[in-house]
Amino acid sequence: MTEAPAGKPVLAVDLGGTKIVTALITPQGRILSREYSPTLAEEGVDDVIRRILTTATTLVKNADLPYSSLSGIAIAAAGAIDTEKGVVTDSPNLPGWHNIPLKARIEQATGARTFVLNDATAAALGEHRFGAGRGVNNLIYLTVSTGIGGGIIIGGKLYSGATGSAGELGHMTIDLNGPHCPCGNIGCLEMLASGKAIAREAQRLIAQGARTMMLEMAEGDARYVSAQTVANAAHKGDAVALSVVNKAATYLGVGLVNFVNIFNPEMIIVGGGVGKMGETLLRPARKVVAERAFQFPASVVRIVSSELGDNSGLFGAVAFVADADRSL
Ligand SMILES: [Zn+2]
Repeated sequence: MTEAPAGKPVLAVDLGGTKIVTALITPQGRILSREYSPTLAEEGVDDVIRRILTTATTLVKNADLPYSSLSGIAIAAAGAIDTEKGVVTDSPNLPGWHNIPLKARIEQATGARTFVLNDATAAALGEHRFGAGRGVNNLIYLTVSTGIGGGIIIGGKLYSGATGSAGELGHMTIDLNGPHCPCGNIGCLEMLASGKAIAREAQRLIAQGARTMMLEMAEGDARYVSAQTVANAAHKGDAVALSVVNKAATYLGVGLVNFVNIFNPEMIIVGGGVGKMGETLLRPARKVVAERAFQFPASVVRIVSSELGDNSGLFGAVAFVADADRSL
């Protein structure tokens, strides 16, 4: 397959646990059109791939752009991805996806060259090229949602490590004696500062009898208290919710201290569903960085919210295709 001239749009796909978002985006980052489909991963791998193809085909047909006129298809998928081979190795959000050759399957059906990359990695690239990190050479992107993932940009380039798995920022150990993480380790950042950690802590406090509006917001059943409930209650000034957010933000801050000391980044971008809390989350995290990180790098780093929000992965997919062309 030959190098695509500048200007051809990319078909970007964000393959998540609940929905598939497909968009045609120009190399300059203009969204031409967009389609959604539920993932329905429980219906099996073949069905999900069929839904990706149906949405993609609708999109290119409506835009009157045959697959051959695209510069490529790039799929940002949740999970462990072998980007070189285009294989979804494993994905906690996509049950049944083990060693699925997604790139080959999509190329077979469309004839368009296809790339597959991790969604958090894609989001990092997206923010770097089109979002909060434009023009920033050294940055860390952290997505805080149900889990925590991320990506590392060094010298303007995505850092992928020896085998392509770098950037598992949610799985740095923060508390040697902390909660067990599904990754097999103990006390990972993800177990202390993610959406599920926030929900778990709120539920724990409610079980201990804490007085909070969260219980009422969850129709009287603590099991329904989610990170979103905590965020909503914190926004309304609920003291228990604020203390839960503050605790998670403090752990998050400890994670950021490590990034600052190790990478000396110009910027740390926090995205993801929990990241949407913005300053409520970032202010206490910045305080921890100011208190604990090496002073000079801490005085330089800007800790900011994501600019692209839910679109960061799609834009990252576009950037990834552009980078692949550049490295040909
Ligand atoms: Zn872990």
